Amino acid sequence: MNRTDVRTIPFFNYPGLFARQREEILSTVERVFAAGKLIMQEDLEQFEVNLAQYLGAKHAFGVGNGTDGLLIALIAAGVGRGDEVILPSHTFIATGAAVHHSGAIPVLADCRDDHLIDPASVRAKVTKRTKAIVPVQLNGRTCEMDRLQEIAEEHGLVIVEDAAQGLGSEYRGRKAGTFGRAAMFSFYPAKVLGCFGDGGGVVTDDDQIADRIKTLRNHGRMDDGDVSGWCFNSRLDNLQAALLDLKLKSFPEEVRRRREIAAVYQERLAAIGALRLPPSPRSDARHFDVYQNYEVEAHRRDELRDHLKANGVHTILQWGGKALHHFPALGFTVDLPITERIIARSLLLPMNTSLTDDDVSYICDLIDAFYRS
Ligand SMILES: *Cc1c(COP(=O)(O)O)cnc(C)c1O
Repeated sequence: MNRTDVRTIPFFNYPGLFARQREEILSTVERVFAAGKLIMQEDLEQFEVNLAQYLGAKHAFGVGNGTDGLLIALIAAGVGRGDEVILPSHTFIATGAAVHHSGAIPVLADCRDDHLIDPASVRAKVTKRTKAIVPVQLNGRTCEMDRLQEIAEEHGLVIVEDAAQGLGSEYRGRKAGTFGRAAMFSFYPAKVLGCFGDGGGVVTDDDQIADRIKTLRNHGRMDDGDVSGWCFNSRLDNLQAALLDLKLKSFPEEVRRRREIAAVYQERLAAIGALRLPPSPRSDARHFDVYQNYEVEAHRRDELRDHLKANGVHTILQWGGKALHHFPALGFTVDLPITERIIARSLLLPMNTSLTDDDVSYICDLIDAFYRS
């Protein structure tokens, strides 16, 4: 490849996404600002109705961010001081932080070759104090929920899903976020459905839990003027809700394109023995993945990453290349062999809908050339 062929492919193209929907975004901002409808207004209610309907859930609530959403979901589901909560170590710090701030003790489980929590590892971590399991619907794929539900039923545990990366993904025809007693979504800008700042959602089918979520996010304030207890201020801005509602309309197309890109990566990279790819879009009829991320395991990972960067392609190590038990300040001492392997070898290739077919082809050519040389 000669110099003139070098492209610049950012990991995520925020300006590109704005440019694509500029008119609609700006007219939404104008409408909301002109009406002066900023906090807890109709756009939020509308988005909550549409989100619940999209998921097939009974209740959905907008919250300030996904991390708050998980904390609120855990508290609303009855998790608190002295409880143990099992979660994967291969997750964002936020999953563990939400468990910690609920008063419970985070207990870390290993994952499987698809990078999601391993039900066998979860089972091995259950003690008398275990109260909940927090499966993380990682990289846009839903965990094997029937096995996790079996474990939960056997031991009387609740499941609260971290579906921050899982909006739209399915397992056996059901959407992520509808398996647990409650579930959280993140609308952080780089998520499959992203807003223009921080935002999150909490969903549940349980009316009582729904009531708690509703008061927990808004200072505990109830309709009769009383308060339910010490709570939080964590509301989704009406403006962000209006923008999310706009983007939700074209979300199925977003998912379709991500799956198309994943299929191209699969087709172009499957023959490279030095790589281990995520499950392909059609490899398992039980799973419908939305490819929030395309996380490959790569031999000589860091060299590959440098090679891509030198040719204008920006990649990321998920969580900065550390699982939760790798942060000394958090004080975990656990042995999680699959997580170790995944963390040492994984790389996130660009995966977003501003990539053109030529971009994806360029990335695959570079990877191919790297392993041939
Ligand atoms: C993004 C993310 C969160 C946190 O969501 P925020 O909206 O940034 O608070 C939690 N868990 C996982 C797995 C995430 O990817």
